Amino acid sequence: MSKPNGSTTNHEKVISVAVNVPLRRLFEYRLAADYPIPPQVGQRVTVPFGKQTKTGVILAISSFEDYHGDLPVEKLKFITSILDEQSLFGPSLLKLYQWMEKYYHAPPGEIWQTILPSELAKGKPAERSRDSIWQITQQGREALAGNQVAKNAIKQKLTLAKLNENRHGILHSRLADYDIQYTTLKTLAGKNWVLRDFIDALPIAHDQITNLPNNLVLTEQQTKAIQAISQSLEQYQTFLLFGVTASGKTEVYLRLIEQVILQGKQALVLVPEIGLTPQTLKRFKDRFNVNIVVLHSGLTDQQRLQNWLQAKSGDAQIIIGTRSALFSELFSPGIIIIDEEHDQSFRQQQGFRYSARDVAMVRASFENIPVVLGSASPSLESLINVDKNKVRRLDLTEKAQSQTDVKFRIIDLKKQSLINGLSRDLIAGIRHHLDAKSQVLLFLNRRGYAPVLLCHECGWSSLCQRCDIHYTYHHQSHYLQCHHCGSNRKAPTQCPQCQSEQVVPVGLGTERLAEAVTALFPDAKIARIDRDTTRRKSAMNDYVDAIKGGEIDILIGTQMLAKGHHFPNVTLVGLIDMDGALYSADFRAPEYAAQLITQVSGRTGRSSKAGEVIIQTHHSDHPMLSQIIHSGYATFAESAIEERVEAELPPHSFAAMFQAEAPFVDPVKTFLQDTKQILDRYSNLKVELLGPCPALYTKKAGKFRYQLFLQSVNRNQLHQLLSLTMNDIESLASAKKVRWRVEIDPVGDS
Ligand code: ADP
Ligand code: ZN
Ligand code: ZN
Repeated sequence: MSKPNGSTTNHEKVISVAVNVPLRRLFEYRLAADYPIPPQVGQRVTVPFGKQTKTGVILAISSFEDYHGDLPVEKLKFITSILDEQSLFGPSLLKLYQWMEKYYHAPPGEIWQTILPSELAKGKPAERSRDSIWQITQQGREALAGNQVAKNAIKQKLTLAKLNENRHGILHSRLADYDIQYTTLKTLAGKNWVLRDFIDALPIAHDQITNLPNNLVLTEQQTKAIQAISQSLEQYQTFLLFGVTASGKTEVYLRLIEQVILQGKQALVLVPEIGLTPQTLKRFKDRFNVNIVVLHSGLTDQQRLQNWLQAKSGDAQIIIGTRSALFSELFSPGIIIIDEEHDQSFRQQQGFRYSARDVAMVRASFENIPVVLGSASPSLESLINVDKNKVRRLDLTEKAQSQTDVKFRIIDLKKQSLINGLSRDLIAGIRHHLDAKSQVLLFLNRRGYAPVLLCHECGWSSLCQRCDIHYTYHHQSHYLQCHHCGSNRKAPTQCPQCQSEQVVPVGLGTERLAEAVTALFPDAKIARIDRDTTRRKSAMNDYVDAIKGGEIDILIGTQMLAKGHHFPNVTLVGLIDMDGALYSADFRAPEYAAQLITQVSGRTGRSSKAGEVIIQTHHSDHPMLSQIIHSGYATFAESAIEERVEAELPPHSFAAMFQAEAPFVDPVKTFLQDTKQILDRYSNLKVELLGPCPALYTKKAGKFRYQLFLQSVNRNQLHQLLSLTMNDIESLASAKKVRWRVEIDPVGDS
């Protein structure tokens, strides 16, 4: 304790805490010598911060003698409380944090805001809620066998049957997964046919972990891949499982996970967007009789915390989640799998910006376990890593089930008359496939009715003043929505400028496409699947069921439809408009377009029926298109890598970007000029500076945005330059007048 005059005793400690503020430093506090909980790195604390109290994470503990901070030690404030009895994190996650802080040059508090489940970031207790388990009783079994359940009590009968199948019982927290209602269980409990037990975890039976599918014989390539990865289960190695769509990548993951679980270890599986691929989760649940938890944004904060804690305690053997599930503390990690590793959702584009794929490789190396990156259209980053021998490539070149090839057809739109964006050939193609009782998928990556609303009389168009880009017109809601900043307003029926009533939608979005297709094929059942039609939680699930059940003839959608779905009866995929994707200012645009075409095309040809892909474009001679169609993604990727090497662009070179924004342009430019001056002091380092220049979208939500790029073929020198200068940049007077950040390995504009 401090003495009354404010002096200190040397049994007190100085604690360095990461507090969630945008500053690249820790904050020091004192801890009273008689504080009842001993401090540990990785515990959460509450601390006074200005006039507030904030939650933070302990990152260093030192004695008074070792303290050399700016403030005299007796001026430091006291820690208010230590929230955790013990560190929440093991050594490898703490080490991973240290690595991220250094690599991403990010404020510690921001990084922890991403690592911690939000309940923990808010200071809530890291406590498991007790679960309970429902089991069928002997009496219940007899009732079921002896047909004692009333004839019309269908729910009771189904519930008993489900409990009878799951011999270890069903967790109360998972009743929804089995479609079981609590009220039914209460009725059954009243008859002593079921009972409820409060427990801490679902017991697992080691004799029967997997339900292997009948008569599935692994292909030779699958067997080879599984063998190669199995041999590396106890050591770090990144594998790129480059397998064409439907080549059985998921089957490879499942076999590896089985081995990992048998070793008593856990598997962490990252997927792009779990809400979009309910089938993936179902496949895992059908295969394994173990505790599988999910971590994604569709859960409540409390559910997320509970699942996170199950991963930490080891009660969950499989953790499936999106990007940030990578930061689950694991009791005994065995493997990390990233499915669709090329997917852009693995890059976090707000707050702490990181690449889950890159960080996963670092984490696995700290944990001494393998990482499997799976894709039919791998990122150039991963392919370059194969060339550098950092990643080992395993190929699955054949589809697992069907031998049928997918036939590509390019339709040159030049000089063609279109019916609402559809060429004659495509319309004929749709008719042909519908006649054959197959399903058709039409892909258009633009939701809404039309990207522009225009006055035919005076040329007025619907511009979002805050972003200087066009509002998208949504017909059903009659709204204008800015897809950039999210703002919206009622669509005018008269031109705001000349009062003409000739206000017309220009261009094509999914809503308008659905309307056009309905008019052309009035007897077909059509489903539009985009962010507007899938807001309801179970909507995507319902669509997927309807498609698989044959209730839909034509599916129209955005890239939500491109991801991982298995629709065996889709035989025609039409890409309505590839022009925007082919010509963009972003040097990565061809790579993204190639991935998209590969993924969308992969939705067809998944069964015994032959598949066809029709691509509409004005640029039919674009080299990427012919590479993808005639030689496949791998060939495209090779030449794309060559181009990047030649132009010294990432991933051949390494980049960082300063971005600043403010309501006025001048302070933004000033800050980036000042930053450039500081960086210029170290011209001995081989780093090229580009800019400041306007961002791709110069204005967003009323703020002007500029960028300054750093590029180098020498990654170490790039990071050295940032380490040498970040403090000075952060303390610039001009930094206080803008919002700014530094981004490592930046992608796109957001
Ligand atoms: P991917 O993950 O590469 O898209 P999947 O693992 O989903 O491929 O496999 C596509 C389909 O082929 C699935 O229905 C799967 O059950 C099936 N499948 C996978 N491996 C085999 C195999 N060796 N023999 C037969 N069918 C297989
Ligand atoms: Zn007008
Ligand atoms: Zn806007």
